[in-house]
Amino acid sequence: MAQKPKRTKSGSAWMHEHVTDPYVKKAQSDGYRSRAAYKLLEIDIRDRLLKPGMTVVDLGAAPGSWCQVAVQKLKRQGRVLAIDLLPVAPMPGVESLEGDFTDSGSLHWLEARLCQARADLVLSDMAPNMSGVGLRDQARHYELCELALDFAVHWLKPGGCFLVKVFQGVGFEDFRRQMQAAFEQVLIRKPDASRDRSSEVYLLGRRLRDNGTVAVTSADE
Ligand code: SAM
Repeated sequence: MAQKPKRTKSGSAWMHEHVTDPYVKKAQSDGYRSRAAYKLLEIDIRDRLLKPGMTVVDLGAAPGSWCQVAVQKLKRQGRVLAIDLLPVAPMPGVESLEGDFTDSGSLHWLEARLCQARADLVLSDMAPNMSGVGLRDQARHYELCELALDFAVHWLKPGGCFLVKVFQGVGFEDFRRQMQAAFEQVLIRKPDASRDRSSEVYLLGRRLRDNGTVAVTSADE
């Protein structure tokens, strides 16, 4: 006989928070695939990132609410290329790959679709599965961020923008310096839909420098 999943206190607390969360309810009524949509919507209202005609790359895209926002803002003019370990259910205006962004195959998929053209905007909402070991999780997260930044530097048009989810703490300042080396302006955004208790913030790199290079400066230098 199938065993019932164990009920844990933290699991019940999560479920309670989830079902009472106003952004979860709003996402359901607005037809978004997840509450994450409101993070991008809020940042976009403030920073005006998404415009018709753009080519947008969405890293860590599942279930696809950022893709939904991008497609709406692009008004069906432009392209959205999306990658995630998990499937992104088909959506008009989005080309998606179920794959690991750290694999060279995923990079080749993106390169083949960009086909020498460059992107206007790279988004990364990637977050690795948490092991519960804080420092290890933080390190794995920043590995993904650095790969995403490297991709952005090589595949954005000069002047392009990069929005990336990061967690404050170990590695944050080092990564921010790498962003500053590549972009003329680097802003920190904490949208209302990002939970207060989370150390999650978004770094927005505006205007890729002409010679955008990822200068890896360690915190000890
Ligand atoms: N922005 C998404 C949306 O609006 O629906 C939510 C993204 S969710 C917070 C983070 C995603 O990062 C997860 O779906 C996870 O599978 C993905 N992810 C984590 N590591 C990844 C990797 N190495 N390659 C691709 N996707 C990855």
